[in-house]
Amino acid sequence: MFFFISLVAASLALTAGAPTRQPSTRHKLLLVSFDGFRWNYDQDVDTPNLDGMARDGVKARYITPPFVTQTSPIHFTLLTGKYIENHGVIHNMWFNTTTGQKLSYYKTQGVSDWWDNGSLPIWITAQKQGLKTGSLYFPGGNATYQGDQVNVKKVEKSFLHPYGNETEWRQNIDTVMRWFTEDQLDFVALYFGEPDSTGHKFGPESQERKDMVRQVDQTVGYLRQQIKESSLTSTLNLIITSDHGMETVIKKNEIYLSKVANFSFGDIQFELLDYGPQGLLIPKPGKLETVYEALKNAHPKLNVYKKEELPPRLHYANNARITPLILYGDPGYVIHGRLKLQFNKGEHGFDNEEMNMKTIFRAMGPAFKRGLEVEPFESVNIYALLCKLLEITPEPNDGSLNVTQKMLATNAGLALLSV
Ligand SMILES: [Zn+2]
Repeated sequence: MFFFISLVAASLALTAGAPTRQPSTRHKLLLVSFDGFRWNYDQDVDTPNLDGMARDGVKARYITPPFVTQTSPIHFTLLTGKYIENHGVIHNMWFNTTTGQKLSYYKTQGVSDWWDNGSLPIWITAQKQGLKTGSLYFPGGNATYQGDQVNVKKVEKSFLHPYGNETEWRQNIDTVMRWFTEDQLDFVALYFGEPDSTGHKFGPESQERKDMVRQVDQTVGYLRQQIKESSLTSTLNLIITSDHGMETVIKKNEIYLSKVANFSFGDIQFELLDYGPQGLLIPKPGKLETVYEALKNAHPKLNVYKKEELPPRLHYANNARITPLILYGDPGYVIHGRLKLQFNKGEHGFDNEEMNMKTIFRAMGPAFKRGLEVEPFESVNIYALLCKLLEITPEPNDGSLNVTQKMLATNAGLALLSV
């Protein structure tokens, strides 16, 4: 063992002083997210390609996202290994509590201040350590971090983006293969907006969602085929995961803040409502108790917390961007503000302990064992695994490699870096 460690140490020492990175045995890594892929979506649809990935690699029974179960905050957890209160991307929407201004999910993608607030995503950390990285539509990929940006990127233009277009999905996979083979990228994060969009529009139990899961599975098959045809099978590790699940919206006995007795929007200085089950409120000076008392027992399915009293397990209080009052609905219940603006049949954003918020994890490639199913774990741990696979030193984070280490093949050839 000592002899082996010495050999590895010697080979590390040889490459450490090189002016440019030499071609190495370092594996490439592709992280794929299919937005809103609930953990059990493969149980009522034939998914031969996802099943094949589980046979040829590792599958987790499910994974638990961080709270709040929203797209951008969770993707930034994947990229940083931090709980949402610790990385600060606390909502899909940028907002200013003084002016009341808010920006949509798409506009927020381009607001670097929202993303770059003390936590470096793995792209930048990898680049600082000599690797080349790319982002294709991945949340957070369009921001600048401490003056740096992802080496190669494609960015979504607007909410008009054709999320479900299978032809475009294949083109995006072709692009990513070129990034690996021609541009010599080491790490790419690739994002698909489905089956989230279809789950919202038609509900998670709909035929439309099942059809979309079939399309996702076909795309996984196409991806594996392209990996093979690009001669990347023995050099590329592939992780397929998602941000959160999806819950059927309950349309009876809905939560309307405008109908709550003793509650007045006149007491509110800033509100972020009508966004699924979540609400963030800043009462006017001196009105915190009034608003809290009015709301806390207003509806049996409405949870209302003062920031400092939010259950610590949710890890969603300790950040200056989080407002003094935090609201969220029980599973299925969205929160309506002044007017009814929400008509989706499916939603997420609920408590991350709810099974319908859990999501998927699959991994395969030269570093992974084959045919292994592991017990559920928290998405906050994926970052440490990504860093290990890329053989880079991680930033401080809330996850642990211990959680995923058992997935790795013992002969994977990973250097014995203490990551
Ligand atoms: Zn969504």
